[in-house]
Amino acid sequence: YSAETRTFHSTREPGELPPESLPVTATAYAFSLLSSPLPDRPALVDAATGIAVSYPSFLAAVRSLARGLWCSLGLRPGDVALVVAPSRLDVPVLGLALMSIGAVVSPANPVSTPEEYAHQVRLSKPVVAFAVGEVAAKLPPDLRCVVMGSDEYRRMADGGGGGGGGEVVMPAAVAVKQSDTAAVLYSSGTTGRVKAVAITHRNLIALIALHAENREKVAREAVEAGEEPPPAAVTLVPIPLFHVFGFMMVLRSVSMGETAVLMERFDFLAALRAIERYRVTLLPAAPPLLVAMVKSEEARRRDLSSLLVIGIGGAPLGREVAEQFAAVFPDVEIVQGYGLTESSGAVAATVGPEESKAYGSVGKLASHLQAKIVDPSTGEELGPGQRGELWIFITGYVGDDEATAATVDSEGWLKTGDLCYFNEDGFLYIVDRLKELIKYKGYQVPPAELEHILHSHPEIADAAVIPYPDEEAGELPMAFIVRQPGSNITEAQVMDYVAKHVAPYKKVRRVAFVTAIPKSPAGKILRRELVQQAMSMGASK
Ligand code: AMP
Repeated sequence: YSAETRTFHSTREPGELPPESLPVTATAYAFSLLSSPLPDRPALVDAATGIAVSYPSFLAAVRSLARGLWCSLGLRPGDVALVVAPSRLDVPVLGLALMSIGAVVSPANPVSTPEEYAHQVRLSKPVVAFAVGEVAAKLPPDLRCVVMGSDEYRRMADGGGGGGGGEVVMPAAVAVKQSDTAAVLYSSGTTGRVKAVAITHRNLIALIALHAENREKVAREAVEAGEEPPPAAVTLVPIPLFHVFGFMMVLRSVSMGETAVLMERFDFLAALRAIERYRVTLLPAAPPLLVAMVKSEEARRRDLSSLLVIGIGGAPLGREVAEQFAAVFPDVEIVQGYGLTESSGAVAATVGPEESKAYGSVGKLASHLQAKIVDPSTGEELGPGQRGELWIFITGYVGDDEATAATVDSEGWLKTGDLCYFNEDGFLYIVDRLKELIKYKGYQVPPAELEHILHSHPEIADAAVIPYPDEEAGELPMAFIVRQPGSNITEAQVMDYVAKHVAPYKKVRRVAFVTAIPKSPAGKILRRELVQQAMSMGASK
């Protein structure tokens, strides 16, 4: 922390990046890191069927599809392609193929509504959509749609088919600048309207380099401690590939020459089975999965001994839950990370077993970042230990394109909307989203803090806290509770439990029991839905 500029700087070593002037796509960069000969393990595995794709077939499939996209579909650099499919093996192939010819991959959620797709299409202006059959009918009719798995798609995947013996029209290396857009992602919009966020090749290259650097650091530390460096990871990806977290984890895995196991649809028991069956070592997940693992009998019965690291991000993870997890699974390291779609991935993360024990923290700033903590009401820049909005400055790669300009201010600071603080050692703590703070008699009550406490109760399977309008207090903290099977925990017991852990103004003052908490695919609580539910439940207190 520099008191003079009131800025927090990263203490991490920046990974080595190709010079910015070198034309290279994220795909080309990812593949350049692979060993020669190619790794002798699957690049991708489908969890349900066990079908595996080797590295040579994976690279060949990407190159062949790229040729098909270029020659038969006529896609050119800058063309946006909407991709709407569950996490199947052909999705990463398509994403990497699009990026390799400078086209822009724009993955979207397959369960969205026609109105939601229409909005996304207005934002990103795709020239073509690739969709699974069920989705095609929901897309705007004037958007050209190629059904994945159709004959047309298969011909393209074969390199464009037709013209046997004709010369390959595709230039050997498409001139794509690193500052060009590689992907357009849709920010989850749990609190507002969905936004499109442009991510450049440089963003992705920097993130891949960061993962490579982190992996080297962990290996170095293991060797220094006289231990074996960790084996190539087998990553189970239960998070959707259209969310920045899932997108990055697959890109990371194939760049590192490791194995990614894909799940078409998230299902807790299927995830446990997949860990056992494929000897999964790395599990990126949202906090609800960790909560479920702590509470689940099944998780204890399964052989999950291969699991070395669980990477948690996307939503707040409470220290209590992390500690409970560590007690049940003492050999699993909990890597915590924090990021936004707008930052195209990790802003902060813990690296290595030592840092990962800082439960409740999301680790230290990534190497390419600077940060400020700003008092949201006065604009004052704050120091270590003080809570305020986190602003980040992404050095080296903020482009000046429109999409980026919309999320950063004129000096290049991205306002995260998250209430955070750094401690004296540079560890970052996310307190809550500013917009989600409950105002009880003018006091700020962070719902995430109350949810962490509720999660730590053995009779509570899941919980969410929302503001409930109140004439006198403004807003009352109201808890939605999912009981553990067999539990009869009462409203009074819930309130007492929280009251024992917090200052009086933070007490839970209303309780409702429900069978499930609505969540986004990335594990964020859909609070607006709960607020509506609370309003329609009406008077009963
Ligand atoms: P998205 O763009 O959908 O990834 O949403 C980004 C937001 O998710 C951030 O601004 C945070 O509010 C929240 N978030 C992501 N990771 C974490 C984390 N580890 N702890 C707390 N909140 C998080």
